[in-house]
Amino acid sequence: MRGDSARMLRRHNESLILSALYHDGPMSRVELGPLTGLGPAAISQLVSGLRRSRLVREAGQVASSGGRPRVLLEIDPDFGYLAGVDLTGDSVAWGLFDLTMRPVDMLRRKLRSGFTDVEGLARELTSGLRELLNSADVREPDLLGMGIGLPKTVTALAEEWSPGRLKSLTGLEIPVFVGCGVTNHALAESRFGAGRGFERVIVVEIGAGADAALVVDGHVERICEWGHTTLDFGGRPCHCGSRGCVEAYVGVRGILQRYHESCGLQPPSREKESAKLSALLRSTANSGPAAALVRETVGYLGAALGNLISLFTPSKVVLTGWAGLLLGKRFMTDIRKVVAGYTSQHAYRHTSVDLGGAGPRAAMIGAAALTVEALLARGEDPRA
Ligand SMILES: [Zn+2]
Repeated sequence: MRGDSARMLRRHNESLILSALYHDGPMSRVELGPLTGLGPAAISQLVSGLRRSRLVREAGQVASSGGRPRVLLEIDPDFGYLAGVDLTGDSVAWGLFDLTMRPVDMLRRKLRSGFTDVEGLARELTSGLRELLNSADVREPDLLGMGIGLPKTVTALAEEWSPGRLKSLTGLEIPVFVGCGVTNHALAESRFGAGRGFERVIVVEIGAGADAALVVDGHVERICEWGHTTLDFGGRPCHCGSRGCVEAYVGVRGILQRYHESCGLQPPSREKESAKLSALLRSTANSGPAAALVRETVGYLGAALGNLISLFTPSKVVLTGWAGLLLGKRFMTDIRKVVAGYTSQHAYRHTSVDLGGAGPRAAMIGAAALTVEALLARGEDPRA
């Protein structure tokens, strides 16, 4: 076999071992067999190499049915650090994690540059990252990569925000990966949160707007413009130019606008939308208009989730995003009831709807996971 193809085969096999240990470890060499399809001699040789490069370490022993105890293997969390950056409309958050996604430190700031100023934003990304590394006492060369999550409105400008351009603008010596908010949320939930272990997962992110992604066998894809599919024929005008879109009813801007209209108030400003939604949800106990508006929103959201379930037959639906979590924490039982009534019964029997489980750092975890995905796919340090 020629050198190149032998190297490629070894990388491929290392990728199988690393993926098994990352997602299902710790485990013994024997357990790696059925998961990777590799024989004992190959596993033994590949594991030795991965231990030499310090990607894999021993994690104690377990008794085996006959003879010697088996040595457990796991990914070495100290092999290197991961940075995950979540860029939203007006703020940016940096998260620092070890290789197994244990949080080390984080930093949040208001954004000074607008999204048209890619150079200015790249400088802010670098200065925040360096401040975070300093406070966590982590050296830049120990960072395996930085993943960035962009709002969906920005991902349309793909070339301006390509990983190569961002890497050169940030001046960092590490790999830079770029994803969008909802696909990063989907990575976080399907690998580390409520979608873990399910074959087909839909992750719905509700924030200012509404977005969704589908994860099939670990592969993540955004469900294009789900937020702009029609929920109400001839309904409310949407900022996209169409009418009756999902986003116009279940995105926070749509919710707050509808509430202001129902009370005869001026349109709401875009300030403090999270605090406004929390106050609205709290006031349902003693305000008729608030209760009616939230009941209607739960109806629209349940019907929109039902459409996704009928279309994609997922085994799990995860509701997340800051507004999705606020709504879901209070009204999940009501949302599930609507979903049950507005979904094809065949598809509904095989699924369940849950709240996001990756925690408040989900968007940063998803961004940081882009580096892990690259490492597991290549079977080696992404900096190599
Ligand atoms: Zn729209």
